[in-house]
Amino acid sequence: MGDNDTVKIQINQLTKRYPVSDRMFTKRSGTITAVNDVDLAIMEGETLGLVGESGCGKSTLGKIIVQLMEPTRGQILYRYRDEFIDITNLVRKDLKLVRRDMNMVFQDPVSSLNPRLNVRTIVAEPLILNKISKGRELDDIVAGLLQDVGLKPDHMHRFPHAFSGGQRQRIAIARALALGPSFMVYDEPTSALDVSIQGEILNLLVRLQKEIKLTSLFISHNISVVRHVSDRIAVMYLGRIVELGQATEVCASPRHPYTEALLSAVLVPQPGRKKERIVLRGPVPSPAHPPLGCGFSTRCPYREEVCVREKPPLKGTVAGDGRLSACHFADELSLAGV
Ligand code: ADP
Repeated sequence: MGDNDTVKIQINQLTKRYPVSDRMFTKRSGTITAVNDVDLAIMEGETLGLVGESGCGKSTLGKIIVQLMEPTRGQILYRYRDEFIDITNLVRKDLKLVRRDMNMVFQDPVSSLNPRLNVRTIVAEPLILNKISKGRELDDIVAGLLQDVGLKPDHMHRFPHAFSGGQRQRIAIARALALGPSFMVYDEPTSALDVSIQGEILNLLVRLQKEIKLTSLFISHNISVVRHVSDRIAVMYLGRIVELGQATEVCASPRHPYTEALLSAVLVPQPGRKKERIVLRGPVPSPAHPPLGCGFSTRCPYREEVCVREKPPLKGTVAGDGRLSACHFADELSLAGV
């Protein structure tokens, strides 16, 4: 958790629907709900991990928070300096200020960097566009940013192709930090990198988090990666948050069968606990046709009749300490953690 319990971002009843068209014809033929009625608070100074399989709505949620996309419905309150403002409803001038205070780093450092520009231009661009600095002073800022992310000042004269995947992601992070944001979304920042490099980038993010007073949303499909960097974890399934709590505790004693399955896929169980790997049955259902009751009921090994009938709300559990779960049997099941 951060320095205190101040809320940085409060998301209320956020929903995003995408139109889906018939494959044969381009006419609109329905919608899918990528983010479904999400309530979520991100505390100042914390890294909140957002985990779930591909297609669960994580990127959509991240993009809406940093204003790259508009929600269909819902509200986002954002602490900007000393004010707590509704950023889903801003006039253009204020929107520009708030956008400078937040940024997003994406998975693929190759396509996110323009190959024709040198590193100085890439990193400096936000500072130039916002008329914040120029000339010698700009070089000094770029040199400082490169050092912050573990690169050398004279790297600024080279072009992206001269760097490895991990170094390119460092350049993308330096650029994202150029305007001194107070909130960052990292969307699968290490998934495109060699396993040997992933740890280095994760350690960089943890170090930056400590050095700069940042609040972050860290998105990954891999719960062991998320656990490494996060204070709290939110588990997402079919557009909804299904479990939320302190990272170590969620992983040690999950309260939702989906979290247990994610853990079982990537981490070694505790000695003495059941060891068989839980294999999720089939793919995530299409968000165009979600199950009627619990979204996870079609794949859940603990499913009962009520799960097919009734959607469980996200609510407090006996685990305490702010732990929420959207499972009818959150307090009864004994699920395996790590
Ligand atoms: P995740 O980040 O968890 O992989 P996404 O937010 O990318 O999930 O996607 C959630 C759902 O929304 C998926 O079913 C995906 O196919 C769909 N989706 C994402 N972006 C679009 C888009 N621009 N248009 C239509 N459907 C989209």
